[in-house]
Amino acid sequence: MPEPHFKSLPQSSRATVVQSGILSVAVPSPLRRCFDYLPGPLTPASGWCAGLRVRVPFGRRNVVGIIVAIKAESDLPRDKLKPIEALIDQAPLPEDWLWLCHFTARYYQHSLGDTFANAMPVLLRHGRPLEARTRERWALTAKGRAAPPETLGRARRQAELLAILAQHSHGLVNSAILAQGFSRAQLDGLRSKGLIECHEELLAAPLRDHAEVLAEPALSLNREQGDALAALHEGLERFDPVLLHGVTGSGKTEVYLQLIEAVLDKGRQALILVPEIGLTPQTLERFKHRFNVPVVALHSGLNDAERLDAWEAARAGRARIIIGTRSAIFTPLAKPGVIIVDEEHDTSFKQHEGLRYHARDLAVVRANHHGIPIVLGSATPSFETLRHAEVGHYRHLRLTQRAGHGTPARLELVDLRGRRLHGGLGPQAQEAIAQQLGAGRQVLVFINRRGFAPTLTCHACGWLSECRNCDARMTLHRQPPELICHHCERHSPLPDACPNCGSGDLRPQGNGTERTEESLTEAFPKTPVLRVDRDSTRRKHALEQTLAIIKRGEPCILVGTQMLAKGHHFPHVTLVVVVNADGGLYSSDFRAMEHSAQLLTQVAGRAGREAYPGRVLVQTLHPDDPHLNLLAEQGYDALAAHLLEERRIASLPPFRHLVLLRAESAQMEEVNALLSDTATALRHWLREHTLEVDCMGPVPAPMERRQNRYHAQLILCAAKRSVLHEAAAWLAQRLENMPQARRIRWSIDVDPQELN
Ligand code: ADP
Ligand code: ZN
Ligand code: ZN
Repeated sequence: MPEPHFKSLPQSSRATVVQSGILSVAVPSPLRRCFDYLPGPLTPASGWCAGLRVRVPFGRRNVVGIIVAIKAESDLPRDKLKPIEALIDQAPLPEDWLWLCHFTARYYQHSLGDTFANAMPVLLRHGRPLEARTRERWALTAKGRAAPPETLGRARRQAELLAILAQHSHGLVNSAILAQGFSRAQLDGLRSKGLIECHEELLAAPLRDHAEVLAEPALSLNREQGDALAALHEGLERFDPVLLHGVTGSGKTEVYLQLIEAVLDKGRQALILVPEIGLTPQTLERFKHRFNVPVVALHSGLNDAERLDAWEAARAGRARIIIGTRSAIFTPLAKPGVIIVDEEHDTSFKQHEGLRYHARDLAVVRANHHGIPIVLGSATPSFETLRHAEVGHYRHLRLTQRAGHGTPARLELVDLRGRRLHGGLGPQAQEAIAQQLGAGRQVLVFINRRGFAPTLTCHACGWLSECRNCDARMTLHRQPPELICHHCERHSPLPDACPNCGSGDLRPQGNGTERTEESLTEAFPKTPVLRVDRDSTRRKHALEQTLAIIKRGEPCILVGTQMLAKGHHFPHVTLVVVVNADGGLYSSDFRAMEHSAQLLTQVAGRAGREAYPGRVLVQTLHPDDPHLNLLAEQGYDALAAHLLEERRIASLPPFRHLVLLRAESAQMEEVNALLSDTATALRHWLREHTLEVDCMGPVPAPMERRQNRYHAQLILCAAKRSVLHEAAAWLAQRLENMPQARRIRWSIDVDPQELN
């Protein structure tokens, strides 16, 4: 942990006046309560108020917390209260940010202190001041420019420094001067003679800020885009949630850009959430190219100091466009103008551990708070968002045509039953690949499994490479050769012989990206085969390099996971092959088919984006499946309407709401005992208060054993959110106060996206 940085505290004459107040402080702890402290001797410039960071003793530690209230009384006698150790801020943290954290903690039933800690840059969490970093720049004064060299007499180093500065008309920054061996004393000496002067400048200075917002002309919109933009313009001055539902390549991004232009013209800021910046550098470039305003991108490549700079620039209003992934929703904004959530259906917007928030849902809440428009864009909207649009909570704008060239390709189902497969590909797919390559085009092969094969199996006795710690099989990898459990990351060497019967006949079963890559390389030895998955892109810039090769347009085969499905524009790809479409068909998760349909539609959207029409071959062992057929024949919207009806009949989200209580422990009995007891008490409490909440369980998690721990859950379901939240809050309180619950890891997931 880096050293904390304290701002030097100004001496205050008001120090004794505040003795009566008690500070209620949220500290980074899982406990869902605040703690009382006495103020220190120094009063902040703003007076004692909510939103100031303080350093406080907490248990045996010393932590950074945030004041949430000033109280007259504490439940504890005054002499039991400890004083704070230090005051960090002179002014409270940004108000919009504090508001959002309070909302998030309440809605997701999470500790406020831990929510604060999650929602702020690491350096603020460690007590660094919230201010723009500056540096000193030294330059000659008019007197210095006119001074003859002998002015400095025997001060030889000062004369040399003066001569160097004379060569830099914009001056030199402090660090550059010190690096050349000059000292602070020499700088001060020249300054006291009036020969040089010093300016403070922002370290992360805004790159551009022109009178003219646009750096390049906007495209002229087609009719649908124009209609959508006009509709969006109407809502600029109010909370206006809009679903921008446009097929892949319909020009949604162009509509965002032109909407942002209108927002910037009003002097306001735009916040854009995207699933993964690293995967789609082109999108970020489009924003940077279009506008003359400072754009900050919050991505995983930033270091802690840069992250704090970006946060500060957004808060101060210097950053005009802020683009980031999930956690960027917690960026404070000086003058919010619009929030855009691109690919709003993407599951990465939900955090799956710790503070389990959904950035898209918080974005809507935040836009409402600010009274600004919010655009949820997708070709395959989530069912939650579709439902909101259907009942009129959101406006529903559609783009049905591709904007540039090209028409979306139809899905063709390919029956794999009884076919000989090579690397997962049947004869029809292989033929189609050969044909497109022959015509000088590119091909994308989508397979949602990384590694070589999902399992290693013994042909003699049927042994399977199961993980010792999980209810899961270990995946066979070839590069390097080993077995890896994708659930607990356990690695183990490849066995030479079957651990069960000793037979040497061990065979890979099923296909992963590595295996498909291998057989394609064999089948098409003259064509480059490029693999894109988490393993192949681990090296820095590896993905960028691959994307650059694809962009050149020469024939090649891309083999990859869903990393290839997201937002890319591959103009030369004319054929997409989906190796296996059956993953979502028979899953126990009620959202599996929704996610599978989204993925298939997104992958299919990579084909035929330019002059040549595209083909999408979808291999399946269930060619008669009604859902797959509906998707292939009538598309995502028709399937979504059908599945939504099924959800309505089954009383599942988005028609009812869910809260999941998960618990895990090394001892199965402990988890079951705790959850059974909790369920009984909850049902009793619900009856007593006549609250209409269904409580199901305890049930084992779909993957019961993970990392040698047992996972089970209670599922709460209700038609009304308010009662569900009451029940969840009651659960959290009860578990927090239960001594037996301390040995068990438990968590509450509001609006869970997966039931595992
Ligand atoms: P989406 O975000 O819906 O996938 P994009 O905005 O990325 O679509 O647009 C797809 C392609 O069409 C891009 O190459 C883009 O430059 C082009 N495009 C978008 N709008 C227009 C337009 N009005 N005129 C010409 N080309 C356009
Ligand atoms: Zn065996
Ligand atoms: Zn495992």
